Amino acid sequence: MELLRAPLSIGLAINSICDLDCKYCYAQPFTLISMMTENALTIVQDAAEMGVFKIAIEGGEPLIHKGLFIILDYALSQGLEVDLLSNGTQIDDEKIKRMQDLATRFEKWTGIQISLDSTDPMVNDSTRGKGKLVMDNINKLLERGVPVSLGTVVTHKNVVELEDIVNTYYAPINRQAIWPGVRSYHFIKAMPTWKSLKNYEELALTKDDFLALKKTREYFDKLMKADNTLEITLLSDKDDFPDADESASMPCAAGYKQLIIRSDMLVATCDLSLNVIIGDLTKQTLKEVWDGIALREVKAMDVLPCVLALGRTEPYNITETPNKRNLSMLRREAVERLSAMNNRIKGC
Ligand code: SF4
Repeated sequence: MELLRAPLSIGLAINSICDLDCKYCYAQPFTLISMMTENALTIVQDAAEMGVFKIAIEGGEPLIHKGLFIILDYALSQGLEVDLLSNGTQIDDEKIKRMQDLATRFEKWTGIQISLDSTDPMVNDSTRGKGKLVMDNINKLLERGVPVSLGTVVTHKNVVELEDIVNTYYAPINRQAIWPGVRSYHFIKAMPTWKSLKNYEELALTKDDFLALKKTREYFDKLMKADNTLEITLLSDKDDFPDADESASMPCAAGYKQLIIRSDMLVATCDLSLNVIIGDLTKQTLKEVWDGIALREVKAMDVLPCVLALGRTEPYNITETPNKRNLSMLRREAVERLSAMNNRIKGC
């Protein structure tokens, strides 16, 4: 893959703190560190100058961060596209007002993406928590004109609930929904993380689940055909839908098109490999990390960074030891963890 002069997108994990404890969390174990607002602003400025298009503000839970709206405002005023990824539990009147203000001032702001695994609070809470509160908050946001999109992690627990989510929040179907409802839905598979591996047996999708998903996909395709403003992504791996159009399958962007900045200023290639460190923004600029040897070494390996990170709880800092012997060791450890899982994990 050709090297870009800047990542297309960066994830800014502004804190490693959250009030939920989702069974598949990608961000745990939490360090309880919040990024200083000034540091976040410097990263945003560097990203804009490098030509990055998009920033995802994430966490932990970003709405717990005191400087969140300063960071959002600054990123949008730099012309960046900004996603705000939230668990939806920390919404209050003041924050809704701030989001309304952003929606009025910045056309590029697509709003807040809230995670919801089911419209049945019991099902939602079997993997996430506080489902009733989250749904109340989604309605409050919609009532006040804040654009909302929904993110759902598809597991064995909620695989038959996905259509209900769209049927509840897509206003042309549900007349009770608050207009204009939600027009953007992202259904992703639970990925192998330190946390999800602990709960693998109850989360993993079965063969029957994939059959159910095929029907769900047909239903979503029909809805989207009738309304080209509706956006639904339902998994994307060719592995999941062998008959899927090749173009629907997304190649891994880690390190090629995206970077993730952790709240402690260490840099990783994606949310699934937060513990494989390829840079440190307390010592390097974003540009130096992007052009640096550690990222080159990781990309030269025949294994994805998420596999290197699989099951790791402690960071492994490649910038301190960017040589093939150490990377090979990291790879060997990951492969051992993989075979311990009896090859039940598909990788990302
Ligand atoms: S997945 Fe997100 S909402 Fe859930 S515990 Fe992790 S950081 Fe919090």
